[in-house]
Amino acid sequence: MSRKPVIAGNWKMHLTKRKASSLARAVAAAQGSVESRRSVVFPSFVHLDHVRRNLRNSNVVLGAQNCWCKKEGAFTGEVSPYMLRDMGVQMVLIGHSERRHVLGESDALISDKVKVALKAKLEVMLCIGETREEREASLTFEVLARQLKALKVVKPAQTDRVSVAYEPVWAIGTGLTATPQMAQQAHAETRRLVAQLLGEETAALIPILYGGSVNPGNAAELLSQPDVDGALVGGASLKIEDFEPILAAAPTA
Ligand code: PEP
Repeated sequence: MSRKPVIAGNWKMHLTKRKASSLARAVAAAQGSVESRRSVVFPSFVHLDHVRRNLRNSNVVLGAQNCWCKKEGAFTGEVSPYMLRDMGVQMVLIGHSERRHVLGESDALISDKVKVALKAKLEVMLCIGETREEREASLTFEVLARQLKALKVVKPAQTDRVSVAYEPVWAIGTGLTATPQMAQQAHAETRRLVAQLLGEETAALIPILYGGSVNPGNAAELLSQPDVDGALVGGASLKIEDFEPILAAAPTA
């Protein structure tokens, strides 16, 4: 079963309008007409429209870093997935560790977001991953099982719009990376759990990305693991000199 590698850049709360636009153009140029991998960028909400214009005529996917769990209403400061879709966004990141651990998002909220984002016809990249304390207490697989339950709301016709990013919290922005073996073990378990929730066929097709201090030096080995289908990259996605070699490290199917 071949899954197309996905290399995604999470730009977090970084860059100016001008820098985001020029980085978008550089990613579009690096992606070129390559069809053997997907590339995705997740700029800040306020830069989405500028980035969209700069990605015009490219096959780079435009994603948002978050959305709210309702179609519309009195939710000051929040953004509906329908609004994202309406302005040309194709994918949304849900449950990133900074949303869970810095902003206190619960599994229930994350599950509601997955449901509404899929209903709005967006693709969803669900982020999961254990903290250092949870890994040290051998709770990694339990955490993955709990967080993946957010996918229970996915309907059979929506499965082709779902991907998962395994991002151990202790590896995000810390320079500590899971070894390729650790990543493979967590990804294989993630795929087994997805099979329990959504069936074997779906589990075989769903891209599972690794995230956590991916850089040009470690990308190829991580991406060579059988269940690692891509990378979600934070810090190293902010400079094209770092992001381009990560894109190039994606195996050609
Ligand atoms: C992320 O923000 O999803 C991430 C993996 O960040 P970094 O690559 O900087 O660890």
